[in-house]
Parts: sequence; C-alpha cells; structure tokens
Amino acid sequence: MTLSIYTFPDHFLVDELLNKEHLIIRSAVRDWVDRSVRPIVEKASQQHVFPVHLVREMGDLGVLGSFIPQEYGGAGLDQIAYGVIMTELERGDSGIRSAASVQSSLVMYPIFRFGSEAQRRKYLPKLATGEMIGAFGLTEPDHGSDPGSMITRMEERGDHFLLNGAKMWITNASICDMSVVWAKDEAGVIRGLIVERGMEGFTTPETGNKWSLRASVTGELVFSDVRIPKENVLPNINGLKGPLMCLNSARYGIAWGAVGAAIDCYDTAVRYALERKQFGKPIAAFQLTQRKLAEMLTEITKAQLLAWRLGVLRNDDRATPGQISMAKRNNVHMALQVAREARQILGAMGITGDFPIMRHMMNLESVITYEGTHDIHLLITGEEITGIGAFH
Ligand SMILES: Cc1cc2nc3c(=O)[nH]c(=O)nc-3n(C[C@H](O)[C@H](O)[C@H](O)COP(=O)(O)OP(=O)(O)OC[C@H]3O[C@@H](n4cnc5c(N)ncnc54)[C@H](O)[C@@H]3O)c2cc1C
Repeated sequence: MTLSIYTFPDHFLVDELLNKEHLIIRSAVRDWVDRSVRPIVEKASQQHVFPVHLVREMGDLGVLGSFIPQEYGGAGLDQIAYGVIMTELERGDSGIRSAASVQSSLVMYPIFRFGSEAQRRKYLPKLATGEMIGAFGLTEPDHGSDPGSMITRMEERGDHFLLNGAKMWITNASICDMSVVWAKDEAGVIRGLIVERGMEGFTTPETGNKWSLRASVTGELVFSDVRIPKENVLPNINGLKGPLMCLNSARYGIAWGAVGAAIDCYDTAVRYALERKQFGKPIAAFQLTQRKLAEMLTEITKAQLLAWRLGVLRNDDRATPGQISMAKRNNVHMALQVAREARQILGAMGITGDFPIMRHMMNLESVITYEGTHDIHLLITGEEITGIGAFH
C-alpha cells in the first residue's frame, strides 16, 4: 500500500481503530512527506525559508480543507482523516503542518462555516488547490492570550468598512493572497472579515530572526484605512466565539500533529540507540536508554489514543472546547519531552541537522505557544475542574 520504508510505532495497535480510507490517506500523505518534504525541509529550516511550492502539492494531495465538502473543493473527509493527515505532515515538519492547519482550520473552516454562499464559492475551491494562500489574523502586538481585548477596528462607511489596526505573529502573512481577520465594530462586537492582498493600505511585513518554525513564514498584517467591501464581512458570526471555533478545529489538528513530531524523534532515537556502541555494546542495551525509550513510547501511545478518541467525539459533534484544549496541551508537551529525551540519546549528534530532532524540538517551542499557550490551556482545564476562572 505504501512506498515508504518507514514503520509507524503502533504499540497498542491503534491502526485497528482506523478504517481503510484513513489508512489509504495516511499512506498517500506519508509517501508525499517522504518524497517531497523530508529531503528538503532541514535545509529550508536552516535557511529560514518556507518551501512555498509545497502548498500547491498539498492541494493536489487533497489535504487542504480535507473536511470541507467536495462541492466547495474540499475532500469531504471526516475528522479522523484530518487528524491522520496532520500527524503525517508534522512528522515531516511542524511548519508544513502549520501551513496546512492555517489554510484548513483557520481560513477555509470560517469561510465555510460563517461565510456567505458567494464567499464560499469565491474562495474555497482556490484555497483547496493551494492556488490561493490564506492567513488568519487574530493575535495583535499587545493582545495574545487575551484576544477579546483586541483593538483592531472596523468602522462603517456607507457601502464599505474602514479597517485600522495590526495583527502580529501571523503564519503565512507575507505570502498570503487573502486573510480572515478579526476586528471590532463600532459596538465593540468582534466580526470576521476577508482582506485581500492588493487592497490599499494593507501591508504584510515578515518577521525574521526566529529560531523556531524556520520553514514557515510568520509576519504582520497591518491595516491603515483599508476599505473592506461589505460583501467581505463573514455574515454568520458575531463575537469571540467565531475565532475560538476556528481555534478549536486547529487545536484538534495540532493534538494529532504533535504525535507525528514525537514519533519522528522516537523513531530516530530507537534506530540510533541500536546502532551506536559505547562500552562495547549498543547504547540501546543500557537500562537508562531503555527507560527513556519505554517512557517515550508510553507517552506517544497515550497521546495517540487521546487524539483518536477526540476525533471520534468530533465526528459525532460531541467534543467540548475543554477536551480539545486538554489534548492540544498534553500532546504538544509530550512531543517536546520526547524530543528532549531523543536528543539526549543521540548525544552530540543530536544537536546536528543530520537528524531531525533539534528541528522538531525548536519547532515545538512555537507549537506549545500558539493556538493558546500551555498555561492558558491549563487554566481552561482548571476552570472546568473548579468552576472558577483564573484568567483575570
Ligand atoms: C510561529 C507562530 C505562529 C503564529 N501564528 C499565528 C497565526 O497564524 N494567527 C494568529 O492570530 N496568531 C498566531 N500566533 C500567535 C499565538 O497564537 C500567540 O503567540 C499566543 O496566543 C500567545 O500570545 P502572546 O505571544 O502574545 O503571549 P502572551 O499572551 O503575552 O503570554 C505570555 C506568557 O504569559 C502567560 N499568560 C498570559 N495570560 C495569562 C494568565 N491569565 N494567567 C497565566 N499566565 C498567563 C502565557 O501563558 C505566556 O506564558 C503565532 C505565534 C507563533 C509563535
């Protein structure tokens, strides 16, 4: 079924929880990642370049907006399929998975869910093929964990709105063709707008100097008296609930994606430990190495099961924001811990670009911060447990 020589660690036979369609999709994405991502991504990361041609290839593969109905250009797949895709992409690189997450969950999802029929027809097919690249503007320079306090403003001016403000830390900003932007209207209500490249007053400076997600573009969206036609407002959503629903979709994908990064680190560490000899035997023979590997596999397995169960709940439309938050936090933290342990097993070799571990580890430092920081997700769970919000 697959061209890849890679075997996924599946200690609890989690594959048996997937259907045939999921396995076929996984094989296709796995092959593509092995063929098109892995051979180039280390260099791209070192050079701080996003291999933008991969967006069109992901479009051809059908992984952009995989859960969007086919009549709008999506693949019409279920939530588990989306998760499986995210795992494979992030086994390649978190930056590539981020591009797919943003396009699927943060741009296509709100247009499908909150957009007009005309907006759906205009944007979704081109976003699905990767002909168009989207961005999602929520975070601002002074409002990250607390997006409800945003100051980007839209003011009604007859047949259009005037948009002013700035968004920061935006994936794909400087290469986007359009962006779903969240802003407050005169009544202080958060609304979603589609801002297109080329609109006067809209600029997208790139953010350089990152040590993390280097094979991904990050930047700003700056709005200076941008005239937004009224037909570019998402008509079917008002309030913070809009961006939070998008984030739920993306966080869910991250819960699966992080497992991919962890598996790549674990797999690399196992192979290395079996080959590398010290004191006359493979380092895999030492109890302390085995402890590391055993703990890594245990945590990966728990994360796989958490992601799968969340997918089942999402397919039934029963997953709560708190469950999604818990899975995102746990699985990204798990992946970061696995990356750190794996790097130790490789000793000095672990810090080089000859192996993917350091790149994954650096990437995961962004993943643990974006889409809600680790601590914010702890507070979400804390509020569920105690009934007391500790955000303010
Ligand atoms: C590479 C990258 C890509 C990104 N892409 C996007 C994107 O495409 N679109 C977008 O809109 N955003 C994006 N983000 C932004 C991201 O979502 C924010 O960075 C994140 O929400 C945190 O906001 P902040 O960085 O302003 O941190 P802050 O909110 O300033 O938080 C700083 C620290 O304070 C802690 N903290 C904050 N409030 C509390 C509290 N109440 N109690 C306890 N601790 C608290 C946080 O946990 C954190 O540790 C991206 C970020 C990165 C790094």
